[in-house]
Amino acid sequence: MIPAASPHRWAEQGAGTLVGMTIGPPAAVDTEMMDAALEQARASLDTGGVPVGAVLASGANIIAAGHNERVQRGDPVAHGEIACLRNAGRQPSYRGLTLYTTLSPCQMCTGAILLFQIPRVVVGEAETFQGDLGFLAGQGVEVVVLGDDRCVSVMREFQERYPEVWSEDIGGR
Ligand SMILES: [Zn+2]
Repeated sequence: MIPAASPHRWAEQGAGTLVGMTIGPPAAVDTEMMDAALEQARASLDTGGVPVGAVLASGANIIAAGHNERVQRGDPVAHGEIACLRNAGRQPSYRGLTLYTTLSPCQMCTGAILLFQIPRVVVGEAETFQGDLGFLAGQGVEVVVLGDDRCVSVMREFQERYPEVWSEDIGGR
């Protein structure tokens, strides 16, 4: 497990080994976009939903934002990333875009990222759910983990308050 204190980029280090490398302070644009994603996550928690928020951006321009809607819409596949991509509507290409997500993507969202060839993913935290960032990075996606404590605390609060909904959201794990 990588430390949560500072941003990391997942990178291949010979022989297919993927490691989280410290990359120094996050870029201002990444912090700003993660703030917007976190706002989405908190809005979801406020309505009793899963607090995962996402933003699709081109540089500092937000194309769309969204949050998990399992509870709000009764939609099991409306993870934060999927809701965001849905809100973005049809995109001829995702070239040059970054997907921000407060939580490390699950297999389903990882699949969507790879299918649409989203080149860059910035993750708020990979502590409360690890996902498989090594796989994503191994497929050529630039993966940055901010290790944002605010993202951790919103998820922890949710996991403690609604453990059964959280288990449901990740397939009964
Ligand atoms: Zn997901």
